Amino acid sequence: MIYPSSVICTPYEVIKEFNSLIFRFLWNGNDKVIRLSTYAPYDQGGLKMLDYDNMVKALRLSWLKRIADPDYVGFWKCYLDHLLVNEGGLFLFQCNYDINRLTISAIFYRELLDWWSKLREVKDPDNIYKYILWNNKEIKIDGKSVFYKHFFDNNIIYTTHLLYEMTNIESFNAVRDAGLKKSNFLVWTGLRQSVPLKLRVHVPNFEHILDLEKFKCRDYYQLLIKQKYERPNKWAKLREEFNLEDKQLSEAFVMPLRVANEPYLRSFQYKVLNSILYTNELLCKIGYISDPNCSFCHQTTETISHIFFDCSFSSSFWNETCEKILNKLNSCVCLSLEYRDIILGFLTGEMDLLNYIIILGKTYLWTCRCKETKPSFNHFERILLNKYQTEKYISFKSNSINLFKEKWRIFEDLFI
Ligand SMILES: [Zn+2]
Repeated sequence: MIYPSSVICTPYEVIKEFNSLIFRFLWNGNDKVIRLSTYAPYDQGGLKMLDYDNMVKALRLSWLKRIADPDYVGFWKCYLDHLLVNEGGLFLFQCNYDINRLTISAIFYRELLDWWSKLREVKDPDNIYKYILWNNKEIKIDGKSVFYKHFFDNNIIYTTHLLYEMTNIESFNAVRDAGLKKSNFLVWTGLRQSVPLKLRVHVPNFEHILDLEKFKCRDYYQLLIKQKYERPNKWAKLREEFNLEDKQLSEAFVMPLRVANEPYLRSFQYKVLNSILYTNELLCKIGYISDPNCSFCHQTTETISHIFFDCSFSSSFWNETCEKILNKLNSCVCLSLEYRDIILGFLTGEMDLLNYIIILGKTYLWTCRCKETKPSFNHFERILLNKYQTEKYISFKSNSINLFKEKWRIFEDLFI
Protein backbone atom coordinates (compact mmCIF):
# COMPACT_ATOMS: atom_id res chain seq x y z
CA MET A 1 0.00 0.00 0.00
CA ILE A 2 2.84 2.37 0.87
CA TYR A 3 4.56 2.22 -2.49
CA PRO A 4 1.60 3.02 -4.79
CA SER A 5 0.45 5.69 -2.34
CA SER A 6 3.80 7.41 -2.52
CA VAL A 7 3.78 7.84 -6.30
CA ILE A 8 0.12 8.10 -7.34
CA CYS A 9 -3.04 9.58 -5.86
CA THR A 10 -4.93 7.41 -3.39
CA PRO A 11 -8.70 7.78 -3.81
CA TYR A 12 -10.70 8.43 -0.66
CA GLU A 13 -12.68 5.19 -1.19
CA VAL A 14 -9.46 3.17 -0.99
CA ILE A 15 -8.50 4.79 2.31
CA LYS A 16 -11.97 4.08 3.68
CA GLU A 17 -11.89 0.46 2.57
CA PHE A 18 -8.38 -0.02 3.97
CA ASN A 19 -9.48 1.39 7.34
CA SER A 20 -12.52 -0.79 7.59
CA LEU A 21 -10.46 -3.91 6.78
CA ILE A 22 -7.71 -3.14 9.23
CA PHE A 23 -9.99 -2.16 12.10
CA ARG A 24 -12.18 -5.18 11.56
CA PHE A 25 -9.01 -7.23 11.86
CA LEU A 26 -7.90 -5.40 15.01
CA TRP A 27 -11.18 -5.82 16.89
CA ASN A 28 -12.45 -8.95 15.20
CA GLY A 29 -15.70 -7.04 14.72
CA ASN A 30 -16.87 -3.54 15.55
CA ASP A 31 -14.59 -0.93 17.12
CA LYS A 32 -14.41 -1.15 20.91
CA VAL A 33 -12.64 2.12 21.69
CA ILE A 34 -12.82 5.42 19.80
CA ARG A 35 -10.77 5.05 16.65
CA LEU A 36 -8.83 8.28 17.13
CA SER A 37 -7.42 6.91 20.39
CA THR A 38 -5.88 3.88 18.67
CA TYR A 39 -3.64 6.24 16.63
CA ALA A 40 -2.14 7.66 19.83
CA PRO A 41 1.32 6.58 21.04
CA TYR A 42 1.43 4.04 23.86
CA ASP A 43 2.11 6.64 26.56
CA GLN A 44 -1.09 8.44 25.59
CA GLY A 45 -3.18 5.30 25.91
CA GLY A 46 -3.05 4.34 22.23
CA LEU A 47 -1.94 1.42 20.09
CA LYS A 48 0.17 3.35 17.59
CA MET A 49 -2.18 2.17 14.86
CA LEU A 50 -1.28 3.39 11.41
CA ASP A 51 -3.54 6.15 10.13
CA TYR A 52 -3.57 5.51 6.42
CA ASP A 53 -5.12 8.87 5.64
CA ASN A 54 -2.21 10.73 7.25
CA MET A 55 0.30 8.24 5.87
CA VAL A 56 -0.83 9.16 2.34
CA LYS A 57 -0.37 12.83 3.22
CA ALA A 58 3.04 12.27 4.79
CA LEU A 59 4.22 10.30 1.74
CA ARG A 60 3.15 13.15 -0.52
CA LEU A 61 4.66 15.85 1.69
CA SER A 62 7.99 14.06 1.67
CA TRP A 63 8.26 15.13 -2.01
CA LEU A 64 8.94 18.63 -0.66
CA LYS A 65 12.46 17.47 0.19
CA ARG A 66 13.32 17.21 -3.50
CA ILE A 67 11.40 20.36 -4.40
CA ALA A 68 13.35 22.36 -1.82
CA ASP A 69 16.71 20.88 -2.74
CA PRO A 70 18.26 23.18 -5.40
CA ASP A 71 20.69 20.46 -6.48
CA TYR A 72 17.98 17.92 -7.19
CA VAL A 73 17.03 17.74 -10.86
CA GLY A 74 14.18 15.66 -12.23
CA PHE A 75 11.75 15.72 -15.10
CA TRP A 76 8.73 15.86 -12.82
CA LYS A 77 10.22 18.85 -11.02
CA CYS A 78 10.68 20.81 -14.27
CA TYR A 79 7.17 19.85 -15.28
CA LEU A 80 5.74 21.08 -11.98
CA ASP A 81 7.73 24.30 -12.32
CA HIS A 82 6.18 24.71 -15.76
CA LEU A 83 2.64 24.01 -14.53
CA LEU A 84 3.01 26.83 -12.02
CA VAL A 85 4.54 29.31 -14.46
CA ASN A 86 1.87 31.96 -13.82
CA GLU A 87 2.55 31.82 -10.09
CA GLY A 88 6.33 32.03 -10.29
CA GLY A 89 7.01 28.30 -10.58
CA LEU A 90 8.17 26.37 -7.52
CA PHE A 91 8.41 29.67 -5.66
CA LEU A 92 4.67 29.19 -5.08
CA PHE A 93 5.46 26.67 -2.33
CA GLN A 94 6.77 29.52 -0.19
CA CYS A 95 3.68 31.71 -0.70
CA ASN A 96 0.53 32.12 1.36
CA TYR A 97 -1.66 30.83 -1.47
CA ASP A 98 -5.33 29.88 -1.54
CA ILE A 99 -5.53 26.39 -3.02
CA ASN A 100 -9.02 27.07 -4.42
CA ARG A 101 -7.70 29.96 -6.48
CA LEU A 102 -4.94 27.99 -8.16
CA THR A 103 -5.49 26.73 -11.67
CA ILE A 104 -3.16 23.73 -11.49
CA SER A 105 -5.23 20.70 -12.40
CA ALA A 106 -2.82 17.82 -11.70
CA ILE A 107 -4.42 16.30 -8.59
CA PHE A 108 -1.17 14.78 -7.33
CA TYR A 109 0.46 18.22 -7.02
CA ARG A 110 -2.74 19.98 -6.07
CA GLU A 111 -3.11 17.70 -3.04
CA LEU A 112 0.53 18.31 -2.13
CA LEU A 113 -0.03 22.09 -2.24
CA ASP A 114 -3.25 21.76 -0.27
CA TRP A 115 -1.76 19.56 2.48
CA TRP A 116 1.39 21.65 2.69
CA SER A 117 -0.58 24.88 3.22
CA LYS A 118 -2.72 23.25 5.91
CA LEU A 119 0.23 21.75 7.76
CA ARG A 120 2.09 25.07 7.66
CA GLU A 121 -0.93 26.93 9.01
CA VAL A 122 -1.09 24.68 12.06
CA LYS A 123 2.65 24.42 12.62
CA ASP A 124 3.50 28.10 12.39
CA PRO A 125 0.58 30.45 11.72
CA ASP A 126 2.63 33.63 12.13
CA ASN A 127 5.56 32.83 9.89
CA ILE A 128 7.24 35.15 7.40
CA TYR A 129 5.51 33.42 4.45
CA LYS A 130 2.38 35.40 5.27
CA TYR A 131 4.35 38.55 4.33
CA ILE A 132 5.30 37.40 0.84
CA LEU A 133 3.51 39.71 -1.60
CA TRP A 134 2.96 37.20 -4.38
CA ASN A 135 0.13 34.68 -4.61
CA ASN A 136 -0.90 35.87 -1.16
CA LYS A 137 -4.54 35.17 -0.37
CA GLU A 138 -4.65 38.22 1.88
CA ILE A 139 -3.22 40.61 -0.71
CA LYS A 140 -5.69 40.91 -3.56
CA ILE A 141 -6.03 43.21 -6.53
CA ASP A 142 -9.46 43.10 -8.21
CA GLY A 143 -10.35 40.20 -5.91
CA LYS A 144 -7.36 38.11 -6.95
CA SER A 145 -3.92 37.49 -5.56
CA VAL A 146 -1.19 38.42 -8.03
CA PHE A 147 2.29 37.56 -9.21
CA TYR A 148 4.20 40.35 -10.98
CA LYS A 149 7.20 38.69 -12.51
CA HIS A 150 9.15 41.87 -13.24
CA PHE A 151 8.75 43.00 -9.61
CA PHE A 152 9.74 39.57 -8.37
CA ASP A 153 12.80 39.53 -10.64
CA ASN A 154 13.82 42.83 -9.07
CA ASN A 155 13.80 41.24 -5.62
CA ILE A 156 10.53 42.77 -4.48
CA ILE A 157 9.22 39.85 -2.48
CA TYR A 158 8.19 40.80 1.05
CA THR A 159 5.79 43.52 2.18
CA THR A 160 8.74 45.46 3.64
CA HIS A 161 10.09 45.83 0.10
CA LEU A 162 7.20 48.24 -0.58
CA LEU A 163 8.95 50.80 1.65
CA TYR A 164 5.97 51.86 3.79
CA GLU A 165 8.12 54.37 5.67
CA MET A 166 7.91 56.53 2.51
CA THR A 167 5.02 58.04 0.54
CA ASN A 168 3.77 56.46 -2.70
CA ILE A 169 5.79 58.79 -4.90
CA GLU A 170 9.00 58.62 -2.85
CA SER A 171 8.90 54.83 -2.73
CA PHE A 172 8.15 54.52 -6.45
CA ASN A 173 11.11 56.73 -7.30
CA ALA A 174 13.31 54.78 -4.93
CA VAL A 175 12.56 51.39 -6.49
CA ARG A 176 12.85 52.79 -9.99
CA ASP A 177 16.26 54.20 -9.16
CA ALA A 178 17.20 50.80 -7.76
CA GLY A 179 16.51 49.20 -11.15
CA LEU A 180 12.78 48.44 -11.45
CA LYS A 181 12.04 49.28 -15.06
CA LYS A 182 8.90 48.64 -17.10
CA SER A 183 6.58 49.64 -14.28
CA ASN A 184 4.21 52.47 -13.79
CA PHE A 185 3.16 54.45 -10.77
CA LEU A 186 -0.44 53.18 -10.79
CA VAL A 187 0.55 49.52 -10.62
CA TRP A 188 3.00 50.28 -7.81
CA THR A 189 0.45 52.28 -5.82
CA GLY A 190 -2.28 49.68 -6.40
CA LEU A 191 -0.04 47.00 -4.96
CA ARG A 192 0.88 49.13 -1.95
CA GLN A 193 -2.77 49.87 -1.19
CA SER A 194 -3.82 46.26 -1.39
CA VAL A 195 -1.61 45.11 1.50
CA PRO A 196 -3.65 44.95 4.73
CA LEU A 197 -2.28 47.19 7.49
CA LYS A 198 -1.34 44.29 9.77
CA LEU A 199 1.01 42.95 7.07
CA ARG A 200 2.80 46.29 6.62
CA VAL A 201 4.19 46.25 10.15
CA HIS A 202 5.60 43.67 12.57
CA VAL A 203 7.21 41.59 9.89
CA PRO A 204 8.73 38.59 11.71
CA ASN A 205 12.31 37.50 11.25
CA PHE A 206 12.97 35.06 8.51
CA GLU A 207 12.76 31.55 9.87
CA HIS A 208 12.13 28.18 8.27
CA ILE A 209 8.87 26.54 9.29
CA LEU A 210 10.40 23.13 8.86
CA ASP A 211 13.75 22.02 7.63
CA LEU A 212 12.27 20.81 4.35
CA GLU A 213 15.48 19.26 3.11
CA LYS A 214 15.76 17.06 6.19
CA PHE A 215 12.12 16.27 6.85
CA LYS A 216 11.20 12.71 5.94
CA CYS A 217 7.91 10.90 5.61
CA ARG A 218 8.14 9.74 9.23
CA ASP A 219 8.58 13.31 10.50
CA TYR A 220 5.55 14.56 8.56
CA TYR A 221 3.52 11.64 9.84
CA GLN A 222 4.43 12.46 13.45
CA LEU A 223 3.37 16.08 12.97
CA LEU A 224 0.09 15.13 11.35
CA ILE A 225 -0.87 12.35 13.74
CA LYS A 226 -0.21 14.62 16.71
CA GLN A 227 -2.95 16.90 15.43
CA LYS A 228 -5.34 14.02 15.01
CA TYR A 229 -5.16 11.46 17.80
CA GLU A 230 -7.06 11.61 21.07
CA ARG A 231 -6.59 9.88 24.37
CA PRO A 232 -9.02 7.05 25.05
CA ASN A 233 -12.29 7.96 26.76
CA LYS A 234 -11.24 5.93 29.76
CA TRP A 235 -8.19 8.15 30.38
CA ALA A 236 -10.17 10.90 32.10
CA LYS A 237 -12.27 8.38 34.01
CA LEU A 238 -9.21 6.54 35.35
CA ARG A 239 -7.61 9.81 36.33
CA GLU A 240 -10.65 10.76 38.33
CA GLU A 241 -11.38 7.33 39.78
CA PHE A 242 -7.85 6.79 41.10
CA ASN A 243 -6.87 10.44 41.52
CA LEU A 244 -3.89 10.20 39.16
CA GLU A 245 -1.63 12.63 37.34
CA ASP A 246 -1.30 12.33 33.56
CA LYS A 247 2.27 11.16 34.06
CA GLN A 248 1.13 8.23 36.20
CA LEU A 249 -1.50 7.29 33.64
CA SER A 250 1.15 7.32 30.92
CA GLU A 251 3.14 4.88 33.01
CA ALA A 252 0.05 2.69 33.52
CA PHE A 253 -0.39 2.40 29.75
CA VAL A 254 3.30 1.88 28.94
CA MET A 255 4.15 -0.49 31.80
CA PRO A 256 2.49 -3.64 30.34
CA LEU A 257 4.65 -3.33 27.22
CA ARG A 258 7.76 -3.21 29.33
CA VAL A 259 7.02 -6.01 31.78
CA ALA A 260 5.25 -8.53 29.55
CA ASN A 261 6.59 -9.99 26.31
CA GLU A 262 3.44 -11.91 25.48
CA PRO A 263 1.11 -10.04 23.12
CA TYR A 264 -1.95 -11.68 24.69
CA LEU A 265 -1.00 -10.29 28.13
CA ARG A 266 -0.35 -6.84 26.74
CA SER A 267 -3.64 -6.76 24.89
CA PHE A 268 -5.48 -8.13 27.93
CA GLN A 269 -4.16 -5.29 30.09
CA TYR A 270 -5.13 -2.82 27.37
CA LYS A 271 -8.68 -4.17 27.59
CA VAL A 272 -8.66 -3.87 31.38
CA LEU A 273 -7.53 -0.24 31.24
CA ASN A 274 -10.12 0.59 28.59
CA SER A 275 -12.90 -1.37 30.32
CA ILE A 276 -13.72 -3.35 27.21
CA LEU A 277 -13.94 -6.79 28.78
CA TYR A 278 -17.32 -8.43 28.33
CA THR A 279 -18.41 -9.09 31.89
CA ASN A 280 -21.75 -10.75 32.56
CA GLU A 281 -23.17 -7.34 33.48
CA LEU A 282 -22.33 -6.07 30.00
CA LEU A 283 -23.40 -9.27 28.22
CA CYS A 284 -26.74 -9.12 30.05
CA LYS A 285 -27.21 -5.46 29.08
CA ILE A 286 -26.82 -6.23 25.38
CA GLY A 287 -29.20 -9.19 25.73
CA TYR A 288 -26.61 -11.87 25.08
CA ILE A 289 -27.22 -13.70 28.37
CA SER A 290 -29.99 -13.40 30.96
CA ASP A 291 -28.04 -13.67 34.24
CA PRO A 292 -25.73 -10.74 35.10
CA ASN A 293 -24.32 -12.45 38.19
CA CYS A 294 -20.70 -13.40 38.85
CA SER A 295 -19.37 -16.54 37.14
CA PHE A 296 -17.58 -17.54 40.39
CA CYS A 297 -19.95 -16.80 43.28
CA HIS A 298 -23.24 -16.33 41.39
CA GLN A 299 -24.33 -13.84 44.06
CA THR A 300 -23.42 -10.35 42.87
CA THR A 301 -23.49 -8.58 39.51
CA GLU A 302 -20.30 -9.36 37.60
CA THR A 303 -18.58 -6.02 37.06
CA ILE A 304 -14.87 -5.55 36.38
CA SER A 305 -14.25 -4.55 39.99
CA HIS A 306 -16.18 -7.55 41.27
CA ILE A 307 -14.57 -10.22 39.12
CA PHE A 308 -11.02 -8.96 39.72
CA PHE A 309 -11.26 -7.81 43.33
CA ASP A 310 -14.47 -7.87 45.36
CA CYS A 311 -15.54 -11.43 44.68
CA SER A 312 -14.62 -13.76 47.58
CA PHE A 313 -12.94 -16.18 45.14
CA SER A 314 -10.80 -13.43 43.64
CA SER A 315 -9.88 -11.82 46.94
CA SER A 316 -8.74 -15.11 48.47
CA PHE A 317 -6.75 -15.79 45.28
CA TRP A 318 -5.00 -12.43 45.60
CA ASN A 319 -4.45 -12.86 49.35
CA GLU A 320 -2.68 -16.12 48.79
CA THR A 321 -0.68 -14.77 45.82
CA CYS A 322 0.33 -11.76 47.88
CA GLU A 323 1.32 -13.79 50.92
CA LYS A 324 3.18 -16.57 49.12
CA ILE A 325 4.77 -14.71 46.22
CA LEU A 326 4.44 -10.92 46.02
CA ASN A 327 5.43 -10.14 49.62
CA LYS A 328 8.46 -12.36 49.37
CA LEU A 329 9.59 -10.72 46.15
CA ASN A 330 9.13 -7.32 47.68
CA SER A 331 10.91 -8.00 50.98
CA CYS A 332 11.13 -4.42 52.22
CA VAL A 333 7.43 -3.52 52.40
CA CYS A 334 4.44 -5.67 53.21
CA LEU A 335 2.00 -5.11 50.40
CA SER A 336 -1.69 -4.84 50.82
CA LEU A 337 -3.14 -5.20 47.35
CA GLU A 338 -5.77 -2.58 46.73
CA TYR A 339 -8.23 -2.43 43.87
CA ARG A 340 -6.11 0.26 42.21
CA ASP A 341 -2.99 -1.96 42.31
CA ILE A 342 -4.89 -4.82 40.70
CA ILE A 343 -6.22 -2.71 37.84
CA LEU A 344 -3.22 -0.44 37.15
CA GLY A 345 -0.31 -2.25 38.77
CA PHE A 346 2.28 -0.48 40.93
CA LEU A 347 3.26 2.74 39.22
CA THR A 348 6.26 3.56 41.39
CA GLY A 349 9.62 1.97 41.97
CA GLU A 350 11.12 -1.07 40.41
CA MET A 351 8.17 -3.41 40.51
CA ASP A 352 8.33 -4.90 37.02
CA LEU A 353 8.16 -8.55 38.07
CA LEU A 354 5.35 -7.85 40.54
CA ASN A 355 3.45 -5.98 37.88
CA TYR A 356 3.98 -8.86 35.48
CA ILE A 357 2.58 -11.31 38.02
CA ILE A 358 -0.43 -9.08 38.65
CA ILE A 359 -1.24 -8.91 34.94
CA LEU A 360 -0.75 -12.66 34.67
CA GLY A 361 -3.00 -13.12 37.72
CA LYS A 362 -5.78 -11.01 36.19
CA THR A 363 -5.52 -12.92 32.93
CA TYR A 364 -5.70 -16.17 34.92
CA LEU A 365 -8.86 -15.02 36.73
CA TRP A 366 -10.43 -14.09 33.44
CA THR A 367 -9.51 -17.42 31.87
CA CYS A 368 -11.09 -19.23 34.85
CA ARG A 369 -14.21 -17.13 34.40
CA CYS A 370 -14.44 -18.02 30.70
CA LYS A 371 -13.80 -21.71 31.37
CA GLU A 372 -16.26 -21.66 34.27
CA THR A 373 -13.70 -23.01 36.73
CA LYS A 374 -12.78 -21.57 40.14
CA PRO A 375 -9.41 -19.87 40.50
CA SER A 376 -6.83 -21.79 42.51
CA PHE A 377 -3.53 -20.44 43.74
CA ASN A 378 -1.73 -23.75 43.22
CA HIS A 379 -2.76 -23.82 39.59
CA PHE A 380 -1.59 -20.23 39.14
CA GLU A 381 1.74 -21.01 40.78
CA ARG A 382 2.31 -23.75 38.21
CA ILE A 383 1.46 -21.33 35.40
CA LEU A 384 3.96 -18.83 36.80
CA LEU A 385 6.68 -21.47 37.07
CA ASN A 386 5.96 -22.46 33.52
CA LYS A 387 6.39 -18.83 32.43
CA TYR A 388 9.70 -18.69 34.26
CA GLN A 389 10.98 -21.81 32.50
CA THR A 390 9.72 -20.73 29.09
CA GLU A 391 11.39 -17.32 29.33
CA LYS A 392 14.58 -18.95 30.53
CA TYR A 393 14.58 -21.31 27.58
CA ILE A 394 13.91 -18.46 25.13
CA SER A 395 16.66 -16.34 26.66
CA PHE A 396 19.15 -19.20 26.21
CA LYS A 397 18.11 -19.63 22.61
CA SER A 398 18.23 -15.92 21.81
CA ASN A 399 21.35 -15.08 23.78
CA SER A 400 19.57 -12.64 26.09
CA ILE A 401 20.19 -14.34 29.43
CA ASN A 402 21.06 -11.00 31.06
CA LEU A 403 17.64 -9.54 30.36
CA PHE A 404 16.10 -12.70 31.75
CA LYS A 405 18.21 -12.51 34.91
CA GLU A 406 17.28 -8.89 35.39
CA LYS A 407 13.59 -9.73 35.39
CA TRP A 408 13.57 -13.03 37.32
CA ARG A 409 16.62 -12.89 39.63
CA ILE A 410 14.74 -12.47 42.94
CA PHE A 411 12.17 -15.03 41.91
CA GLU A 412 14.93 -17.50 41.10
CA ASP A 413 16.66 -16.92 44.45
CA LEU A 414 13.46 -17.49 46.41
CA PHE A 415 11.55 -20.17 44.60
CA ILE A 416 13.87 -22.21 42.41
ZN1 LIG B 1 -18.27 -13.24 42.59
